[in-house]
Amino acid sequence: MILPRRTSLQFPNWEVRAVPSAHSGMLFMETLGYPLPRTTICACSECGEVFPKIESMEHHQMVKHAVSELAPDDSSRNIVEIIFKSSWLKKDNPICKIERILKVHNTRRTVQRFEDYRDAVKIRANNNAKKNARCAADGNELLRFYCATLNCSLGARGSSSLCGSLPGCGVCTIIRHGFQSSKVSGVRTTASSGRAHDCLGCKDARRAMLVCRVIAGRVKHATDVVTTEEDDGVGLSNGGSYDSVASYGGIYSNLEELYVFNPRAILPCFVVIYKALES
Ligand SMILES: [Zn+2]
Ligand SMILES: [Zn+2]
Repeated sequence: MILPRRTSLQFPNWEVRAVPSAHSGMLFMETLGYPLPRTTICACSECGEVFPKIESMEHHQMVKHAVSELAPDDSSRNIVEIIFKSSWLKKDNPICKIERILKVHNTRRTVQRFEDYRDAVKIRANNNAKKNARCAADGNELLRFYCATLNCSLGARGSSSLCGSLPGCGVCTIIRHGFQSSKVSGVRTTASSGRAHDCLGCKDARRAMLVCRVIAGRVKHATDVVTTEEDDGVGLSNGGSYDSVASYGGIYSNLEELYVFNPRAILPCFVVIYKALES
């Protein structure tokens, strides 16, 4: 799998090894009773725990094996570190320290919903007289950042479990339940990690930066937006036939801030756990 093909950071051919593990590697065991019926149980491919139903095993994997830490010599880790640091606006001053980088193991269902959403955007683009080539090709996929609070020891000492502090812990809530979108303003994603950091209205030094694949679809630019209400100072209206709204041009991209209406369009892939060294 190659992702993303083109990003706002122009990062070429990001190779990430085939979605491994937790949620794709199910192991089925069949016990054949005599003469019949036969029963099917399934075992977690990560820890071996056995479940009577696939649903209960999937729930177990979603909570217990949601992430895994990338080793220092993992090529994906180096790439994520580079894109995290290179889009930090004050990168000349080291103002944050990376503690660890985790890979998110999304469930099959989550990945399928993301791909279904992409297909819907592509079909709409192909049926539109003014065809947008990017939307028709891949749904206009972009690499985006989202900063979340972190109130647990996710990733520490190999811990892959999501915490139960919901909704108190931002990153665990998002990985477990997906992004929550207001129909009016959507989910704010940013082109740079620094901007995402600044957007999170909290003073916690330790935070989680989610690196996400986003199907931006048809992007409405802020100058075209008819403001209907001031929503947390942003003032966006749902863009009608648009899938997302760009509201703020920055140093790195004219899509510095992109509000995505449908949370299914956002797939968190990596989590950078870091500590801000100054405010
Ligand atoms: Zn397990
Ligand atoms: Zn947590």
